[in-house]
Amino acid sequence: MTDSKTPLPLLPLLASKSTASVAQTLSQLRIALPNEHLCLIEDLTPKQLATVDVAITANPPAQHLDAWLDQLPNLVWLQSLWAGVEQLIASARIRQLQIVRLVDPELARAMAEAALAWTLYLHRQMPEYAQQQRDQQWQPLPWRRASNCRVTVLGLGELGRACAERLHANGFDVAGWSRSSRTLPGIRCYSGAAGLADVLPVTDIVLVLLPLTDQTRALLNTQTLALLPPGAALINFARGAVINTEDLLEALDQRKLRHAVLDVFETEPLPIEHRLWTHPLVTVLPHIAAPTDPASAIQIVARHIETYRRTGKIPPSVDLQRGF
Ligand code: NAP
Repeated sequence: MTDSKTPLPLLPLLASKSTASVAQTLSQLRIALPNEHLCLIEDLTPKQLATVDVAITANPPAQHLDAWLDQLPNLVWLQSLWAGVEQLIASARIRQLQIVRLVDPELARAMAEAALAWTLYLHRQMPEYAQQQRDQQWQPLPWRRASNCRVTVLGLGELGRACAERLHANGFDVAGWSRSSRTLPGIRCYSGAAGLADVLPVTDIVLVLLPLTDQTRALLNTQTLALLPPGAALINFARGAVINTEDLLEALDQRKLRHAVLDVFETEPLPIEHRLWTHPLVTVLPHIAAPTDPASAIQIVARHIETYRRTGKIPPSVDLQRGF
């Protein structure tokens, strides 16, 4: 218990008052962390800001983040409410700041559900049947078993593994690709550049769940897309820049790829004039594959903060050199 005379430690949320849902996030954090003084960074004085050693954020725009971090000279670590933290990496590197990202089993479950939903969408030819309905065309297409549909998950981390396992449990022929070699029951595992060249030619649906790093930027481009068999399809749930969009559009225009389901884009929201919006072989989603579930995420964040206050231990943080 905290002595009623001892001021509670300040725990700022790096978010702007104008951000949607910020008031709700603050009040949920206050309930979960009664021994912290939760506040918005904008409401603190310079003297108060100098006492802050840990803060919480939810991927603010880079220019806001840098301005806020500059006001926190004694910040040691930053807890993200998101799993993907590539927007925070550059700012953290120059300040030697530790970043703790959200690792939440509920998030993995949501991502696995999305992976299954959109894999079935492609496997059961829903884009083609939707087009046929628009054209008032009655034309059954060839059907094949899920066990004859080869799905490759690029990235076998917290989210990729959950997706690969769910797809395998639903009868798909699943492969996975990662940096280091891995073993997962029932899943064909590949790694490294040679592994990518081996697995893409035997893939019907590619599901991208890689973090965006210097190594994965534009990993899917004209050369790598050309390794896929004709008529393969693609789902991107990771980050827009993992795929070279112009190269993807060219592969779609040339009908080398059957369809692309895109949940993430280099610029979000996707600009209104962008070709992807109206391309007949593209399904655009507004970054909804696996939203943070406040109910579970806030409990995880609260446990991290409580442990830190009690023991001084910072939870496992992102490797800033590796970039994820
Ligand atoms: P993670 O646990 O850090 O796993 C990353 C995986 O990618 C690991 O298997 C890693 O290989 C692999 N990898 C990294 N660099 C690689 C490279 N150069 N070559 C081959 N494999 C590489 O990440 P996660 O929690 O699964 O999240 C993945 C991404 O999902 C996030 O970074 C974020 O961009 C995205 N995301 C999207 C949404 C959405 O709603 N659309 C929601 C949450 C997250 P090793 O295992 O060998 O290290």
